[in-house]
Amino acid sequence: MRILVVEDERELAATLRRGLSAEGYSVDLAHDGREGLWKARTGDYSAIILDLMLPVLNGYRVCAELRRDRIDTPILVLSAKDGDWDQAEALDTGADDYLAKPFSYLVLVARLRALLRRAPGQAAPLLTVGDLTVDLAARSCRRAGTAIALTPREFAVAEVLARRPGEAVSKYEILHHAWPDEAEDPNLVEVRISALRRKIDTPFGRASLQTVRGLGYRLVDDRSEADRIGADRSEADRSGGERVGGERVGEQRGGGGRGDRA
Ligand code: CA
Repeated sequence: MRILVVEDERELAATLRRGLSAEGYSVDLAHDGREGLWKARTGDYSAIILDLMLPVLNGYRVCAELRRDRIDTPILVLSAKDGDWDQAEALDTGADDYLAKPFSYLVLVARLRALLRRAPGQAAPLLTVGDLTVDLAARSCRRAGTAIALTPREFAVAEVLARRPGEAVSKYEILHHAWPDEAEDPNLVEVRISALRRKIDTPFGRASLQTVRGLGYRLVDDRSEADRIGADRSEADRSGGERVGGERVGEQRGGGGRGDRA
């Protein structure tokens, strides 16, 4: 998920980017209202964290302009103006939530999650590739119902791949999404891809995370073909008694993995 942070205090902006990146979000920064408005209009963001006191164009105006343009990206206002009127005005202008500075980082992240969960455009923040689901709101991942614990970075890598099932995503795209802040070392991606495979594929006897030589990586539904063949077969041998398909056994038990098949 991409988040836009519009904040002129550069240190705070950088801190927010670091913190949110560590949570697995991909973060872009804008340091004044005009840049923020431009990025919010042109970029594909899941949410915007918006300061009110901004150079060039203040946060109220950014908010109002976006809503006038019918851009309904959820906006969380973050401001040192903590008066009731300021909060009310921000919300009336089209902001979805308001947090006064100084704020608790824990609360900010929780509010952001809540905002993403209930955002209209994000009604189904559930990415599905075969029986692998990546829940963007809950920041959780499952294979055939079995929960898989991912680190925030692994989650970010899984997300960028799951957003484009079956498509090759370059190392640099993955890098940009999962490590927006750091020196670009493509080796980071390889290491994280291996770690991700050990979690989402290996225990389930699967090979959904594929290397596309010279291009990058892709996440595929490696189950669909077996399923299609299985479905065709059972159609043809309808009276042929019980078919014991290894893949099926594993799946019906909710991703029990290799052990089930042996
Ligand atoms: Ca400010």
